[in-house]
Amino acid sequence: MKVANTTSLSLLVLFAIGFLMLRLASGRAQRTRPSFAAGAQASQAGITREYSKSAYNIAPLSADRIAKLAEDLSPEERHILLDKGTERPMCGTLLNNKEGGAYVCRLCGLPLFNSDAKFTSGTGWPSFFQPSDPQHVHYQRDTDLGMTRTEIQCTRCRSHLGHVFEDGPPPTGLRYCLNSASLRFYAKGTELPPESRPVQMETAYFAGGCFWGIEDRFQQVPGVVDAVSGYMGGKTAEPTYEQVCSGTTGHAEAVRVTYDPKRVTYEQLLEWFFKFHDPTQVNRQGPDVGDQYRSAIFATDHQQLKQAREYIERFRGADAFRNRAIVTQTELAGTFHEAEEYHQDYHAKHGGSCQLPGG
Ligand SMILES: [Zn+2]
Repeated sequence: MKVANTTSLSLLVLFAIGFLMLRLASGRAQRTRPSFAAGAQASQAGITREYSKSAYNIAPLSADRIAKLAEDLSPEERHILLDKGTERPMCGTLLNNKEGGAYVCRLCGLPLFNSDAKFTSGTGWPSFFQPSDPQHVHYQRDTDLGMTRTEIQCTRCRSHLGHVFEDGPPPTGLRYCLNSASLRFYAKGTELPPESRPVQMETAYFAGGCFWGIEDRFQQVPGVVDAVSGYMGGKTAEPTYEQVCSGTTGHAEAVRVTYDPKRVTYEQLLEWFFKFHDPTQVNRQGPDVGDQYRSAIFATDHQQLKQAREYIERFRGADAFRNRAIVTQTELAGTFHEAEEYHQDYHAKHGGSCQLPGG
């Protein structure tokens, strides 16, 4: 009886410990919710990009460039932006601004917030529930004042903007608390200065086997703004991955590459494409077999088509591919269907990223 009691007691204690651990785990899961980390996830996953998804150059500015830009700041702005100062509540010029438009970084001009995410928080500082592009805001742990807060900075010039708190309204539940001095406002319809405009992008489409790898490698090419996995060249109106895999839709797994033509040319993208895959394999790449894995270039205009065909022609008679014929198809691009979200940035998310090939 005594043994039984001891056993029951031990079981009860074990059960209680298990229950507590489960509670702690679920509490942790809830606390990891903050969606302001979404923009930071990219850098945690090892993706350091020169361009944001909305096509802005977000490469860090040099110290010299920042010093040059800072010459234009007033002492008050300098204190806030460069020395992490805070303007007095209710004093900022943009606190009660209800006009539609864009809020850009006071120092470098990078767009940071839109008027449609601004709300009245009652705190005395301009408040937003989300940035205009998650990658335009950089998050920094701040333990000044004896408490832990999350400081927000401009991704491009690292100017101090304010802090973010988890007591904001839906849909994010976040409150980006800003200094007016850190921002410059442009009303809707006003022409933005060059530093506040996205780069003028061009687009190219390539298919060369499983899109995960092709997308991952193009994403690393300097001058490429974004690479997106999808389907092209088939008949079905809204193809799904399963349909494309079944080989009945005629689509190829393709990648849409948007690029800054001032940094990388179409010719250079063709060079990379032929390094990224084996253009001599018919309807396959290694273990992936089927016409969805065919090698193809989908040109966005006749100029691209001409360039692609001339590029391939140059290999005729050369032994670049051990004298095997290039079977890459070239045609004008049709509709590009973006692949399901779980296929995007697949290697970056799952740790299978490959370095760009050398030579
Ligand atoms: Zn900035």
